[in-house]
Amino acid sequence: MFDLDSRDIKFLPGVGPQKAALLNKELGIYSCGDLLGYFPYKYIDRSRTYKIREIDGNMPYIQLRGRITIFETQGEGKSRRLTGKFTDGTGVIELIWFKGIKYILEKYKTGVEYTVFGKPSLYGHVFNIAHPEIDPVEAIEKIPGLQPYYNTTEKMKTHFLHSKALQKIMYHLWQTIQSPLPETLPAWIIARAQVIYRHEAMRNIHFPQSPDLLRKAQFRLKFEELFYLQLNILRFTRLQQRKLGGFRFDKIGNAFNDFYHTCLPFELTNAQKRVLKEIRADVGSGIQMNRLLQGDVGSGKTLVALMSMLMAIDNGFQACLMAPTEILATQHFETISELVKKIGLRVELLTGSTKKKDRERIHEGLLNGDVHITIGTHALIEDTVNFFNLGLVVIDEQHRFGVAQRARLWKKNSRPPHVLVMTATPIPRTLAMTVYGDLEVSVIDELPPGRKPVQTLHRYDNRRGPLYDSIRKQIQSGRQVYIVYPLIQESEHSDLKNLEEGYKHIQEIFPEYKVCMVHGKMKPAEKEAEMQKFVAGKAQIMVATTVIEVGVNVPNASVMIIENAERFGLSQLHQLRGRVGRGADQSYCILITSYKLSEETRKRIEIMVRTNDGFEIAEADLQLRGPGDMEGTQQSGIAFDLKIANIARDGQILQLARDIANEVLDKDPELSANEHYILKIQLQKIFKKKFNWSLIS
Ligand code: ADP
Ligand code: MG
Repeated sequence: MFDLDSRDIKFLPGVGPQKAALLNKELGIYSCGDLLGYFPYKYIDRSRTYKIREIDGNMPYIQLRGRITIFETQGEGKSRRLTGKFTDGTGVIELIWFKGIKYILEKYKTGVEYTVFGKPSLYGHVFNIAHPEIDPVEAIEKIPGLQPYYNTTEKMKTHFLHSKALQKIMYHLWQTIQSPLPETLPAWIIARAQVIYRHEAMRNIHFPQSPDLLRKAQFRLKFEELFYLQLNILRFTRLQQRKLGGFRFDKIGNAFNDFYHTCLPFELTNAQKRVLKEIRADVGSGIQMNRLLQGDVGSGKTLVALMSMLMAIDNGFQACLMAPTEILATQHFETISELVKKIGLRVELLTGSTKKKDRERIHEGLLNGDVHITIGTHALIEDTVNFFNLGLVVIDEQHRFGVAQRARLWKKNSRPPHVLVMTATPIPRTLAMTVYGDLEVSVIDELPPGRKPVQTLHRYDNRRGPLYDSIRKQIQSGRQVYIVYPLIQESEHSDLKNLEEGYKHIQEIFPEYKVCMVHGKMKPAEKEAEMQKFVAGKAQIMVATTVIEVGVNVPNASVMIIENAERFGLSQLHQLRGRVGRGADQSYCILITSYKLSEETRKRIEIMVRTNDGFEIAEADLQLRGPGDMEGTQQSGIAFDLKIANIARDGQILQLARDIANEVLDKDPELSANEHYILKIQLQKIFKKKFNWSLIS
């Protein structure tokens, strides 16, 4: 049997050294196996031919059949174009070319029947199709209904290696394949996942026999791609856990119980209780916990973190909490110190600006075990910070930390401590499974009782009068207001409201109130002082950049105004909105934009106005932007070069793939069974070039 992977494409009919070199360089395709793995990005249904009179202004690519009656060229030089009037007896449209005019005039003749394919658009009163695809009628009759389209680069196109040429090459390749393609999944998985065989899938992905078979082919290939991705991640995680083991927190002791009975200021929500049970099961299992805790802003994650830390302390371990900013770390420190005041634990704050003397004192307390809980920033992962017996690490707002940073904390004890990662930037489950495939996921999907959902409004920036009136009313009734700007200094976009200008403007509008300002370029002490004015209620309005995005907790603030809201991403808007609605009053978030908005921006704003549900927003964000741009994916270290699966749309397939990958590893952790030999081979083949998970061990 021949091996497609070792057969060079240059020996295929219709390829040759020149085209082969292009395919190498432009698409990384060297072997026939590579070529077969280059899938179409879309299929166009050519089973239906439209009549010209059916065309309306809102059609995708369509197929027409008729004759060109006359060619005309217009314009000179760069604006020269060729128009062909095209009719099928029911109407007339124009075919237009801006390039390759000579070639078109030589190739196509008036009066001959052609099939024309393209996207009609309306110009003036006449529909036209720019750069249509034109074929003799007979040629099209040989193509089945669904025509595949392959992505090609500009360079390839100038060498006539366009989609159609690739399709032809693919056809030649397929003709050379004599025996069925070797299977890449074990038989039991094929049966269990109910997928078709690889040979059938490959045939139909390139040459769909029917819409149904195409769908089955896509399902099979998506499943396979996601399955190997999951198998790889899960295998690594399990290996790691087995090798290293984890600290066992057997008992619930005084720290936890005393806190629960005497310090806890309110009843836990059911979601908090459920998550605590999940954590308790993890830390009691003898395997290292790696858990992602997702919960919307204000859902009470801090409390869950604290109570998990108490579990560690009850078992003779220390715990630490790492936050992305100094402000946030300080706030956590204050909250937590206050909460555990009665049970006599030593809690310390360690950040970049901790004084040398204090730092030495804290370092010492960490080493001899006097300090129970440490809260800090990146300063915690410095090599100079060493613990007596670190058992649990909590990381807040994980999207700011990468895999590598997480890994550094693993090394702070003889075995890796348990890790709880918290985020208020919800990640759709499907994405979390891929990006944080090594983490189990817990969700707090319930807010503490008594919160009124924030009301979100969209206003255009040319009507500020009524807005300022309502701000004044809010302040008169004792509330505070945030106003957020996207930039600190005026950039080349002079229409952008700049923070300092805004600050002055607001001071002029509200001379009777105190306005403070916070931005990222301030010195920490200065920032802290301004922040403190607001926290203490001395300033009624805070003008700020996104530095307030995470963590800041001022329950009395009830209005969040976001200027140039069109400049913010969905998850950022949601984070900012989370700064209000923390008290008992009705809160408002006002998104101010200019009148002219792109389609996508309008959608973003609409979603924000419609829902407060962080998961729904994350889902929408993923749909709008795709996974590559999502916060967190860049740091994750996983290249998002999926060939066929789409994480935004294929959540169910991903779940199935993960379940089956887990099943495989339950049965055969080493993949040593004969029937799993193929899994090993495939893993090696797929991941030889990709991210090396062992880097984080
Ligand atoms: P986040 O999940 O955004 O980190 P926090 O932990 O800061 O949320 O909690 C937000 C607020 O809700 C805090 O003031 C906290 O004291 C309060 N809180 C947390 N849990 C509860 C609860 N079960 N009942 C009432 N209030 C709660
Ligand atoms: Mg928080």
